[in-house]
Amino acid sequence: MSSDSPTLSVVLPIYNEQAALDSLFERLTTTLDATGMAWEVVAVDDGSTDGSRELLRAHRARDPRIRVVVLVRNFGQSPALYAGFSRARGRFVVMLDADLQNPPEDIPRLVEKLEQGYDMVSGRRATRQDSFFRTAPSRWLNRYISAVTRVPLSDHGCAIKAFRRELVDRMLTLTHRCRYLPADAAMLGGRVTEIDVSHAGRPHGQSKYGPIKLIRTAFDLITSVTAAPLQAIGLFGWFLAGIGFLMSLWVAYVRVTQGDINQMGTVVAVFFFLSGCQLVATGLMCEYISRIYIEVQARPYYVIQEELE
Ligand code: UDP
Ligand code: MG
Repeated sequence: MSSDSPTLSVVLPIYNEQAALDSLFERLTTTLDATGMAWEVVAVDDGSTDGSRELLRAHRARDPRIRVVVLVRNFGQSPALYAGFSRARGRFVVMLDADLQNPPEDIPRLVEKLEQGYDMVSGRRATRQDSFFRTAPSRWLNRYISAVTRVPLSDHGCAIKAFRRELVDRMLTLTHRCRYLPADAAMLGGRVTEIDVSHAGRPHGQSKYGPIKLIRTAFDLITSVTAAPLQAIGLFGWFLAGIGFLMSLWVAYVRVTQGDINQMGTVVAVFFFLSGCQLVATGLMCEYISRIYIEVQARPYYVIQEELE
């Protein structure tokens, strides 16, 4: 990193946010100037088709601290953020949605926490302005990520987060393709905390997440952080086979004590037992597949914070 690197980088993923950009940059500039730190903004145009790109060019021409990264097409929010991280040079890196749902004015409070020694500071939307269909699944998914990453945050999905340089560098070593950034960050962060931030309704445009994309994202999230769903299949197989086995004991008991064969019971017992066996076999295969999956992800096996000389 060169000596003229800024202290603070703000990374913005932008997909058709033309209507928000002018007021976004105005508020960002005011807020960042007030910190007294040298700063840069890395705006990533994620294949916008609405004139966002031209507007970004204009803002860049006006203020060279605004850097623009243009992706060839729409890749999605996480890839756009990673593209921005790969270009950010600051000691502190903040990510922020461009739609003004999270006010830029919260940035200094997050950075203050980093200065206290945290690796990652995540926002927590105290007053989240989204529909029930967004907030309810989000609650479950938060518990899931907290459990698998063992980083108990209450709002992993919050789009305003701040990272220390070292954590960003660690995240940039990841090479697997199906990723969910908040989980990566939580998993690789050492000292992690969250603070309350405000959250507003979308002042301009519409959410870029329709129902299909939301389901796709939730699925990425569930499967990108752990092989647990694969491993659950075998467990379920043992469960079914166990039920089948107990039922056949019961059928045999009835045969011995009462002399008659319970035909329905026999069929059901055999059915449970055989489908259980099949799932156990599938589960064994899933165990191997999950190992391939884990190897392919090539997450760092451990991360050393620092070495004392
Ligand atoms: N975004 C992006 N690429 C996409 C979808 C979204 O860069 O494919 C950006 C978008 O411009 C915004 C942020 O990611 O800055 C969050 O998107 P949005 O506000 O639609 O998500 P929501 O707030 O509804 O979760
Ligand atoms: Mg939004």
